[in-house]
Amino acid sequence: MCPLCREHEGKGCEIVERSNGRLVCTCGRHSWPNAGALLESCRRQSLTVERTLHTWTQGQ
Ligand SMILES: [Zn+2]
Ligand SMILES: [Zn+2]
Repeated sequence: MCPLCREHEGKGCEIVERSNGRLVCTCGRHSWPNAGALLESCRRQSLTVERTLHTWTQGQ
């Protein structure tokens, strides 16, 4: 599933590989030059989520 879209109206946004090796999410909003870049994007996104959660708990 695309780490940036996650889902559209309850339906997961999948990632597909183009014939040139480039990875794109099915809605076409995001693309990565290779699997490493996608993994990095996932990792960075999960860090952002953790930080956001942390901020929320701190604010309450
Ligand atoms: Zn996407
Ligand atoms: Zn999408």
